[in-house]
Amino acid sequence: MSRSVLVTGGNRGIGLAIARAFADAGDKVAVTYRSGEPPEDFLAVKCDITDAEQVEQAYKEIEERQGPVEVLVANAGVNRDQLLLRMSEEDFSSVLETNLTGTFRVVKRACRGMLRARKGRIVLISSVVGLLGSAGQANYAASKAGLVGFARSIARELGSRNITCNVVAPGFVDTDMTRALTEEQREAIVGQVPLGRYARPEEVASSVRFLASEEASYITGAVIPVDGGLGMGH
Ligand code: NDP
Repeated sequence: MSRSVLVTGGNRGIGLAIARAFADAGDKVAVTYRSGEPPEDFLAVKCDITDAEQVEQAYKEIEERQGPVEVLVANAGVNRDQLLLRMSEEDFSSVLETNLTGTFRVVKRACRGMLRARKGRIVLISSVVGLLGSAGQANYAASKAGLVGFARSIARELGSRNITCNVVAPGFVDTDMTRALTEEQREAIVGQVPLGRYARPEEVASSVRFLASEEASYITGAVIPVDGGLGMGH
């Protein structure tokens, strides 16, 4: 059955791979994009998730064009890496505002329709560093750890309405975000990953699609690592 899916930040990287995975399975897929060109293959709605009005407008357009969102993948995220003593209030709050508060905004809005339908699937994209910590990423790691408590609270609040909320925690994935690292940093990271390589965005997308599938109907409040073994035990 074709469902109405929304992927935030679906114009590139992991989000685009997730959007493609749902579309390949026959779902109707909308993506939000903030800058650059919209991807042609999906319903693309311009939306900055730090702006409540843009989030509302995006949902209205998606609801009109493909129906209420039945599957939400909150993927949009940013990093602004800096060691703690050099990290400004703005570095900290802007990352929290996008990754955590922005996710709150899109999830809250999606839940309206899901509660009415008495079903829904929500998947949040966190990160292995939310649980492991990462020097130079206190803001990013805090935001990604916050998503776990947020997801588990929603799983408890909305479970009785047949709405699941799960987290995927990727390790290092080959996208623009990690291409910004130096070659030296990339090599050091790969050295710590038991599988000895970066993930392809599609390898994250397949877990997201599973969590939104009928096969995962009894999974909620889970944190699924897709990290090549990097975070084992966390
Ligand atoms: P990219 O930097 O390649 O893409 C980030 C996406 O988020 C873009 O679509 C971007 O839109 C969007 N975005 C950023 N800020 C906003 C905003 N305020 N409003 C709306 N959209 C926004 O990142 P990845 O694909 O690598 O990452 C996707 C998610 O996966 C992120 O949440 C990231 O933290 C997480 N992740 C990534 C890992 C990695 O190794 N790459 C590892 C673990 C987690 P635009 O194109 O307009 O900038």
